[in-house]
Amino acid sequence: MTSDQFRQLWMCFADQVSAYTDTLNDLDRAIGDGDHGTNLVRGLNKVRTLWPSGELSVPHLQEMSKQVGMTLLSTVGGASGALWGSGLLKAAGELPSQEDVIDDDGVISWIEALVSNIETRGKAQIGDKTMVDVMRPAVNWLKDAPGPFRERLEALPRLTTQWMESTKDLQAKRGRAAYLGARSIGHIDPGSFSAALWWQCLSKVVAS
Ligand code: ADP
Ligand code: MG
Ligand code: MG
Repeated sequence: MTSDQFRQLWMCFADQVSAYTDTLNDLDRAIGDGDHGTNLVRGLNKVRTLWPSGELSVPHLQEMSKQVGMTLLSTVGGASGALWGSGLLKAAGELPSQEDVIDDDGVISWIEALVSNIETRGKAQIGDKTMVDVMRPAVNWLKDAPGPFRERLEALPRLTTQWMESTKDLQAKRGRAAYLGARSIGHIDPGSFSAALWWQCLSKVVAS
């Protein structure tokens, strides 16, 4: 992954979350407070302004992950902003401070650090009906599935959609939705929906 692809990843995510803002808010209205799409789009529109297109150089990868993390932390608000933001800040430590490109293993290390920080901070694991239900299986798939990296990446849009849909039958154990208890069953978790959008962007940008 190059720093230009890193930029494209976040531009893609900003576009996708903008396109699905109402869907994300509707999902959050069913089991939360209805702001998930609005929260994320606010932060990602700010991320768009970090590296104006047409500018010749972007910062090194480590700095870029820090910038996105700080931006999401300070503008998204809500649980999702704290989790994505602090996760990206910590995961920046896995990225080179003086280079513009990482290999496939470097991509995996960065995302593994992001996901494990989200798990540690949010204390959620698979089955708790959160974004972790998409993030954790996806990074494990990227690490452990057979076949070339590129093919593993290309399978992720389909797989993350399935993992996102499977949150519907779960009862929430973390986040706002957990207050609903059994009434949270029957609705897709909004954070797992946006997480699937992120993986679709990663797949598109890095496998292309
Ligand atoms: P808020 O609930 O503060 O309004 P958002 O609506 O932006 O925040 O984000 C809600 C999403 O955040 C949930 O759908 C869930 O996926 C994720 N989430 C909430 N709490 C946790 C947690 N403790 N661990 C992991 N993910 C969480
Ligand atoms: Mg919310
Ligand atoms: Mg909220």
